[in-house]
Amino acid sequence: MSIKENDDPPVPAGDFSAWLLVTEASLRSGTGSADVPCGACRGCCRSSMFIHIRPEETQTLRRIPRKLLFPAPGLPKGHVLMGYDDQGRCPMLIDERCSIYEDRPQTCRDYDCRVFAATGIAVDREAQPKIARRVAAWAFTYESGESRAEHGTVQAAAAFLQANRDLFPPGSLPNYPVQLAALAVSIFRLFSDLTAKTPKDPSLDSDAAIAQAILNALRDGEAPA
Ligand code: SF4
Ligand code: SF4
Repeated sequence: MSIKENDDPPVPAGDFSAWLLVTEASLRSGTGSADVPCGACRGCCRSSMFIHIRPEETQTLRRIPRKLLFPAPGLPKGHVLMGYDDQGRCPMLIDERCSIYEDRPQTCRDYDCRVFAATGIAVDREAQPKIARRVAAWAFTYESGESRAEHGTVQAAAAFLQANRDLFPPGSLPNYPVQLAALAVSIFRLFSDLTAKTPKDPSLDSDAAIAQAILNALRDGEAPA
């Protein structure tokens, strides 16, 4: 018997525009702390995730036994990853609570699974069923027509990135769904401008031209990658 993802009752995710503003600011600064109404969910602590910890997170590093950390592939010396046990659980999750909550890694502070519900980008249900279940339950509200329209544009930007990956040079778009979702949020205002201009500006009359404009903005730092 299969369990439908939407068997769980809806969980309020907040007004979409309010969530979007906070998330955009967090992505720009790179130091945000997502205020996710997780409740009793510990999905991301039990989903076989490698947690990246930066060298400057000294207090966090002091709290985690050295034997649980290993060098992060492809990153400069000092960047480390914390793995998970044979059930996919973070070793810092003890009695269903984060045992280092006040000093938890920035990666954990940043993680907000509402980004999947916001963009429509799918979680890997096989690998991360607990997160997928919560994502299916999130229900945004819309305090204005603009809020609802913004949700539509964020989803359109995400769909564009997914459908046109071949228009971007290899390596220029993230492979991990959560990172691609964050990118869609980062570029959605630009995407909205570009698609609005398309009828008036013949130079933007193709997906390739829109993809190039997004790439240019990322390279110029006009949108956080
Ligand atoms: S999966 Fe989502 S709701 Fe659950 S703990 Fe992680 S961020 Fe919170
Ligand atoms: S460090 Fe804490 S918040 Fe982060 S994954 Fe582990 S238990 Fe969860």
